[in-house]
Amino acid sequence: MTGEIQRPLELKRRSNRTVRLIGACIAAIVAVATPGSEFTARAEAPFQKTQSPSYYRMKLGDFEVTALYDGGGNGAIKSEMLRGKSKEITSLLQQGFVDPDKIEGTVAGFLVNTGDKLVLVDTGTGGHWGGPSLGKLAANLAASGYRPEQVDLVLITHLHADHAGGLASMDGKRVFPNAEVRVSKADSDFWLSEETAKKAPKDAQVFFEVARLASAPYIAAGKWKPFGNPNEAITPYIKAYPILGHTPGHSGYEFTSRGQTMLIWGDVVHVPSVQLPKPSVGIVFDVDGPSAIKAREDLFKTLADRGTIVAGAHMPFPSLGRLRKNGVGYAWLPVTYSDNP
Ligand SMILES: [Zn+2]
Repeated sequence: MTGEIQRPLELKRRSNRTVRLIGACIAAIVAVATPGSEFTARAEAPFQKTQSPSYYRMKLGDFEVTALYDGGGNGAIKSEMLRGKSKEITSLLQQGFVDPDKIEGTVAGFLVNTGDKLVLVDTGTGGHWGGPSLGKLAANLAASGYRPEQVDLVLITHLHADHAGGLASMDGKRVFPNAEVRVSKADSDFWLSEETAKKAPKDAQVFFEVARLASAPYIAAGKWKPFGNPNEAITPYIKAYPILGHTPGHSGYEFTSRGQTMLIWGDVVHVPSVQLPKPSVGIVFDVDGPSAIKAREDLFKTLADRGTIVAGAHMPFPSLGRLRKNGVGYAWLPVTYSDNP
């Protein structure tokens, strides 16, 4: 028994010595053969610094869904904007390999071709907010093969600038000239009220301003159609889905085709690495923090139980996936890339 154990140990020692020796030889050869100057001379091909057009397509039953990237990656969200125990938040960010001082976000919108209608849910910033790393949705819509005038219906989850800004051009014209715009009446009343704007803090003024600017040309054209019923049936296969708290009328939209369901959930999650494992963490942008947290906790459970496909404006692009219960929180399972939608 003892001899059998000793032999492999001896072999192991010898092979470790051999590996070290080979390693040293390779290092010596590389040092001689690759001086610094030669390294530079070989880098003849410049970095391309561009990405493929930022859209992603998948089928939902008979419908074609196109996720459209508006932008992101600007590190605009800071950990102190999150509402919860700061030590816990920092720890979750670190576990997710996210820099707590520079949380890189995503902004996306979703185009659904139902066969008889072209429906856009949320429009990105349109360049009205957040700087030049955002506002690319219109360019990506074009890259995906569609034109703005083909859009029949625009559904807005809520009137924050990163969702509704893209409705209007910089000179205040309709970007989607043939579209009717639907948004919950509670959100429309809140963000378009001059009274409410007057009472709001300075930091929030930009949201009121962009909401007014984005809606104005559609109101003038009679194309602004708020709905009062939180569960409004937009069409026989699109239903409004109230997820209140983030804003007074914050609404998801549920699309169903051939038994497959997708919920476009708006701003249920801003920082996935924190709010998925810990759904009770809120964010400073929530108009009613406790309601937003309750809505998220309830919704996560329902979506994970049902296996519903989620389209999340601030989930990592292409922002499509499902939730699975994971301990006390949830895990995000992104859709699997396919080049054959
Ligand atoms: Zn948002």
